[in-house]
Amino acid sequence: MSGTVKGREIPFGRPILGEEEQEAVRQVLSGHMLTHGPRCAEFESRFAKMIGVKHAITTSSCTTALHLALLAAKVGPGDEVIVPAETHVATAHTVEHCGARPVFIDVDRATGNVTAEAVEAAITPRTKAVTVVHYLGLPCDMDAVAAVAHRHGIKVIEDCALALGADYGGRKPGSLGMAGCFSFYPAKHITTLEGGMLTTDDDDVAYLVRKQRAFGYDKGLGERTVPGVYDVVMLGYNFRMSEAQAAVGLCQLDRLDDFMDKRRTNSDRLVAGLSGIDGLHCFPLADGKSKSGRYCVNAVLPENGSVDRGRIIAELNARGVGTSVHYPVALPHAAYYREKYPVGDDAFPVARWISAQAISLPCGPHLGLDDMDYIVEQFHDIMRAHGRR
Ligand SMILES: *Cc1c(COP(=O)(O)O)cnc(C)c1O
Repeated sequence: MSGTVKGREIPFGRPILGEEEQEAVRQVLSGHMLTHGPRCAEFESRFAKMIGVKHAITTSSCTTALHLALLAAKVGPGDEVIVPAETHVATAHTVEHCGARPVFIDVDRATGNVTAEAVEAAITPRTKAVTVVHYLGLPCDMDAVAAVAHRHGIKVIEDCALALGADYGGRKPGSLGMAGCFSFYPAKHITTLEGGMLTTDDDDVAYLVRKQRAFGYDKGLGERTVPGVYDVVMLGYNFRMSEAQAAVGLCQLDRLDDFMDKRRTNSDRLVAGLSGIDGLHCFPLADGKSKSGRYCVNAVLPENGSVDRGRIIAELNARGVGTSVHYPVALPHAAYYREKYPVGDDAFPVARWISAQAISLPCGPHLGLDDMDYIVEQFHDIMRAHGRR
């Protein structure tokens, strides 16, 4: 069977929110505590336990968590932070916001992750930190990265935006560096509408992050002896999460095991079904100690451009298969960064290949195995029409 199934609709991502979330938000709205209250505290303590760290701190997004992590690493003007060339722009923008320079490195062809060798080769006397990205949920080789970072005295920040549910030799991403940063944007593993979390084992990092998250006050709401009276001890931001968001997050945590079961079953089926297509590379779901959080299945078309990604995506979409692109521009080649830090057209070839030729296919918990089989069938059919087997 091939061709379009009428009305078939397979969205790339769709948050699963039910009665529980609605009731939890209703309760927040009918109370008096709308921000930095008990639900944020409970969300933080449950998250910390799940990741296996001392501190989890809610934030307004993963971007603001990354920003706070860099500030806690004392990154400022004149410093360099190593970041992958192929990632969400937030990974690099947050370095710029600190007045520091993002130093891009190319990623590994097989996994899309940075390697310890590439990190080490980019270290200069100005390097303060590296922000690693667990690409599409597959943890980087963190033992090797940590060894390099230790040798050179630089901090490791983990961008875990797509790495919830992943595993690294029995430990969780978010517990493997100085700090981990998670995203609860609607299309991620779990959502709080917008929102993020910073995880750390380091008491000093946690102290700084909590202060700078909320204006740099000396005392939190519950610590003030006279209500409304506080001092300001440092420059800070308002990067907090609201109680309604945390209430949604708590319900989503209850669903996470079920979400992960579905993601694993779906992605296994999809990768098996796509294997063997001529010239197609799927990023692995496991590598050494790393087990992926299964954010999506990434199918990368040939580097020589012999298959046009735009056409494949258009045909998949026409058959009801939703897709995404991670990420559509290799950051050193993005207009903003290219103007500020000029590079040649051929620089960062692997990041360029992935950004030009990768198609992200859905495997989220809103989908079932019949959806995976349909995607496989359509993908084979389309590739055959383009002369591939
Ligand atoms: C989504 C994403 C971010 C940004 O997360 P927000 O919560 O939207 O700020 C950062 N890094 C990576 C790798 C992402 O995928």
